[in-house]
Amino acid sequence: MINKLTLVIVMATYPIMGLTMPIHNPVPGGVAVIPIDMLENAIFNGTRILTLKNNSRAYAIVGIPLSAKPGNSEIIAGERKIGFTIKKYTYETQHLTIKNRRKVNPLPEDLKRITRERIEMNSAFRRFTTSIVPDTNFIPPVKGRRSSSFGLRRILNGQPRNPHSGMDIAAPEGTPIIAPANGIVVALGNYFFNGKTILIDHGYGLVTIYCHLENITVHLDDRLNKGSIIGSVGQTGRVTGPHLHWGVSLNNARIDPGLFLSDE
Ligand SMILES: [Zn+2]
Repeated sequence: MINKLTLVIVMATYPIMGLTMPIHNPVPGGVAVIPIDMLENAIFNGTRILTLKNNSRAYAIVGIPLSAKPGNSEIIAGERKIGFTIKKYTYETQHLTIKNRRKVNPLPEDLKRITRERIEMNSAFRRFTTSIVPDTNFIPPVKGRRSSSFGLRRILNGQPRNPHSGMDIAAPEGTPIIAPANGIVVALGNYFFNGKTILIDHGYGLVTIYCHLENITVHLDDRLNKGSIIGSVGQTGRVTGPHLHWGVSLNNARIDPGLFLSDE
């Protein structure tokens, strides 16, 4: 028999699909959830953004780039301008030592490859696929200890590098990785910095990336169901040990994946 308490716990653990939205946290690297009059196209910084309906209300969901300046900002929904404020948030600095120095200071012959891979990933991040309705209630892609390292300003072997654009989840090599939501595999490869990598398009500008894999078990253009296995945790590319680097991109802005996990 199910008592009242069990029912409450079950509902909290399995939110009804479509009723859970990303967490509103309008900081650089965060998300702004903005109510709009009706479900229509919306634009931020010249880029189309995700719009969805939740409990019969329409919302625009804006990915705010880590490079965004705090202060007044706006979206355009249909004909209407809607202002919102990007709040200031300062990320900590993290020092890391990478043993393979070539992964910090690539050789001239590596640069062509790095540029090619960057173009491949960027074109995946810029997709806006309207044939898939995104499920923004992600399940964690791997079981393991989640670090709160998103956005950290990184110093590698004493040299400043780009801020950390995802969440690192520590797990033993070989741990299965699953798709956090339905989507299509839009890029994969063995990249110089990211190692064995998969990019999944979840629709409407929501794209996720999985790096440093040991094995990739999906193919380009595969349609994935939420929870299906895509590969296993490894330590390929630039790493200090086995882990999954999981990134979430919305309207081509890399944002904190934790905002898409309802159990955070
Ligand atoms: Zn990482």
